[in-house]
Order: sequence, then C-alpha cells, then structure tokens
Amino acid sequence: MTTTAVRADLSLLIARATRAMAIAGLFDMHGHISVRDGDVIYINDRRSSRRTLGPDHVAVVRVADGQAVRGEPPSETALHLACYRAREDVGSAAHFHPLFATAFATAGRPLVAAYCAGAVFGHEVPVFDDPDLIRRDDQGREVASVLGGHRAALLRGHGVIVVAEDVPACVAQSLWLEESARRLAHTIPLGEPKAFSADEIRRVTAAIWQPKVIEKAWTDALERARVAGAFDDLPGA
Ligand SMILES: [Zn+2]
Repeated sequence: MTTTAVRADLSLLIARATRAMAIAGLFDMHGHISVRDGDVIYINDRRSSRRTLGPDHVAVVRVADGQAVRGEPPSETALHLACYRAREDVGSAAHFHPLFATAFATAGRPLVAAYCAGAVFGHEVPVFDDPDLIRRDDQGREVASVLGGHRAALLRGHGVIVVAEDVPACVAQSLWLEESARRLAHTIPLGEPKAFSADEIRRVTAAIWQPKVIEKAWTDALERARVAGAFDDLPGA
C-alpha cells in the first residue's frame, strides 16, 4: 500500500486544469489530464463534468499496479499509466479528442511541423494505428511504444495523447498541438503545407520552448477560465 497522503494542492491543480481545458474547447464530455506525484497520479474522475469537476472528484491512482487510492479513474487511465511507466521525464499527461488534431488522426494524415506552434512536436506527430479505446495495460504499452520520446501522439480515429514535464507544459502543448492542426487544416485547401526543415524546427522550438512562453500559455488558459466564471466555486478563485 502506498503511504502517500492525498494532496489538496494537486487535487485543486487538476480541477483547475480540467476546467481550463474544457473552457479552451479541448475537453468535451470526455478528456482527462493527470499529474504524477511520486508513486501515484492525480486525474479527473470518470463521471464528473469536465466543466464543473471539483477537487473531491479527482481520482488518485498508483502507477505501479493501476489501483485506485481514491475515486473512480477514467476508463482510459491505462493510457496515462503506460506513459508514466515508460518515461521518467513525464510528469503530466492529457488525453482528449480535439476537433482538428483528431481530424488528422481520422484521415491518417501526418500532422507535420509547418506552423510555429507545431515545431515543438518535431517533424511529425506519430500515429497509433488502432481506434480502440485504451483500457488495458497491453494497449497502453503499444501507445507508449509509438509515442517513444515524442511530446504527443495521434490515436487514429480517436484522439490524442500529450505528455510533458508538468501540468502547465502539458496544457500549453495541448493548446499548441490543436492550434498546429487547426492552422494546417486551414492551409491545406490553399496548398500543401511547407514542412519546416530540421534547422527551422530547432530554431523555432528554441524560441517557443521556454519557461516564460509556457507560463504565458498556462496563465492565459487559466485567465480565460476564470473570466468565464469557471473557477468561481474553487478555493483561491
Ligand atoms: Zn479517448
């Protein structure tokens, strides 16, 4: 048994991040975001609306065996756990079904870096080629294998998985992945997107992937949610 006490600060962090992802249009009735704390993760629970989920509806799950320490985790928690098990550098993960990135996943069309927001994901976001929901550890391992060292992967006909070092970076990447897909979707009717070269990816990523830029994206996501009244019933709103 874990001796980890349930942390109020991380429950609140996940509640705020979940609502911010909903306000940003990335979460609908589906979608989950998690954060790692030692041998457990905190993740928004299975049944609560992503728009109103409170800290008491954040589930806590052991990474090693997937056992719930508190609450009812989402059905696809195996997807998160597999990424944490495979990558020590992953401190936060999000799975959701955003409109534009999932459209690329549905078409089986590579999401290439041809717009600045997409540069941090490298030349192409890899595609996991199975539309089934990820509810078992063996499926999770297959996704983690396709993800490799990338920051995100598309799940064909399903959605996306995004991994990052912490929650602000995970939210920032989630926003940028969908923005890149949206820009490409608007570009394709005009002509083939002009993919960045390796040097262009390196230079653009160096400019974007900085703490102050990640903090700006995170702050903006939180402020949009706060102004929309999404945090009115949360502590410290
Ligand atoms: Zn899903």
